[in-house]
Amino acid sequence: MKVLIVGGVAGGASAATRLRRQSEDAQIILFEKGEYISYANCGLPYYIGGTIRDRERLIVTTPQLLRDRFRIDVRTMSEVVKIDRAKKMVTVKNHADGTVYEESYDKLILSPGAQPKRPPLPGIDSEGIFTLRTVPDTYRIDEYIRETKAESAVVVGAGFIGVEMAENLKKRGLDVTIVEYLDQAIASLDPEMAAILHRHLRENGIRLLFGTGVQGFEKAENLKVKLTGEKEICADLVVLSIGVAPDSSLAKDAGLELSVGGSIQVNDTLQTSDPDIYAVGDAISVRQFLTGEDTLVPLAGPANRQGRLAGENVLGRRVGINDGVQGSAILKVFDMTAASTGMNEKQLKAKKIPYQRTYIHPADHATYYPGSSQISMKLLFAPDGKILGAQVVGFDGVDKRIDVLATALRFGGTVYDLEKLELCYAPPYSSAKDPVNILGFTAANILRGDVKVFYFDEVDALDRSKVSLVDTRTPSEVQAGTIDGAINIPLDQLRERMQELPKEKPVYVFCQVGLRGYLAARILMQNGYDVKNLSGGYKTYITAK
Ligand code: FAD
Repeated sequence: MKVLIVGGVAGGASAATRLRRQSEDAQIILFEKGEYISYANCGLPYYIGGTIRDRERLIVTTPQLLRDRFRIDVRTMSEVVKIDRAKKMVTVKNHADGTVYEESYDKLILSPGAQPKRPPLPGIDSEGIFTLRTVPDTYRIDEYIRETKAESAVVVGAGFIGVEMAENLKKRGLDVTIVEYLDQAIASLDPEMAAILHRHLRENGIRLLFGTGVQGFEKAENLKVKLTGEKEICADLVVLSIGVAPDSSLAKDAGLELSVGGSIQVNDTLQTSDPDIYAVGDAISVRQFLTGEDTLVPLAGPANRQGRLAGENVLGRRVGINDGVQGSAILKVFDMTAASTGMNEKQLKAKKIPYQRTYIHPADHATYYPGSSQISMKLLFAPDGKILGAQVVGFDGVDKRIDVLATALRFGGTVYDLEKLELCYAPPYSSAKDPVNILGFTAANILRGDVKVFYFDEVDALDRSKVSLVDTRTPSEVQAGTIDGAINIPLDQLRERMQELPKEKPVYVFCQVGLRGYLAARILMQNGYDVKNLSGGYKTYITAK
């Protein structure tokens, strides 16, 4: 069997090597229009920041290795410019010598990736405006900074790549401003979770302009970035990171069916509308794991796994099924880490999926062991307890918590499963009740009716004349800030001072993170009060403010 693969990075290289492991007989030709194959897209921002210093480290696999070890015919600088489905033939342009030739196939795998969006704004082609997708893009930015001695940068877009670039440009010594059309960074997080990152970005000297669009650019002494509201800022360079669009032009010209955002439509075995052509990676639409709807998830994990599956399925094995993508993603932001999996609240609301939520801010490991820090966690779950999504932001231990939650979600787990999970514990790593267990406990408490909760976004609407709002923290904590209209009854005095609270009024209690409020709620409930505890406590409330 002769298999041609278009695109030699995440999806394409995975498909090629998997195919070879399954078949020593297959003839495999991998076409890559650029100079490099299998490079570390995800590491590119860290080269610009200087964390990765060695150019070679950006290249995960060389064409020579794929030839020697896998007998794959790797052709770099070779762009597939046309697919003739009737003849089962592709046309290839060799950018090294300008020649054009045809190559036949039995099966074809497309992994052409995505293109950074570059809207047709005035001045968009001015010198000093960059996007970051490839190794050459990275070198261009690096050299421009060095040659022009750039001192300032505007990053347009506060998604994953934008925030990573902002951090790395700052590390490189530049003065950095992020301009973002939305009111928050990292849209996969809900605003109150993203707010933790906003603070950390600002503390690290990044200027954030939210709710601001870019209307154009003008090259003068440096670059003028024209913003909505007739404002403008100047910078030595601009990095556009406003998202990517699936690179489906080849598939479209070949008449293959397309899906959301112009992506390539595939079935559960990654076959396109032509059974001899498979497609993977950023170029395709995937099924959202929970809703089954077609969506775009341009991430390396799915692209690699899809490549591996396509490498098997072209041989007719059909072992793996592309059963949906939950969008698990993680990001380093200076000293913090932010991660999410599944659906966020905005998406659940948009799809009208009923959900409940809980917030906690536990320590990442036992507080008596040095070096612990707080992590903020949000869990979204269905009324029957099924996990729908999770978001975690903190300094340490974020990655393992989100991966446990992502695994639980993938296996259809519930909040009751999280209560029961037996996770590893020793003081340097966790607590005997791991934060993931605590997330399960708090969620299950809500569902079992052990406690009623209210949320940070309901506080301001509470009619203070009709409810008792009680801050259960110590007076010194209250002095540092509390919620307007709250009376202070520290938890340890509650049993004695309970009579200060009229029984006929609902009581809304809160503390710093939700635990003492929960204890207060349990005391009051058992004394006949109608009581609710603020999920995530004052910390979630004030962070979201
Ligand atoms: P790509 O890896 O982009 O490969 C496509 C290749 O196809 C390209 O090299 C292109 O030149 C080639 N090609 C296109 N058309 C043709 C043609 N006609 N002929 C021949 N060759 C062609 N994801 C994460 O999960 N985590 C991260 O931390 C992360 N960080 C990222 C940071 C950056 C700066 C970038 C750019 C991406 C990051 N991603 C991350 C996303 C991840 O890199 C992509 O999801 C993944 O690479 C997609 O794989 P792919 O094979 O679909 O496309």
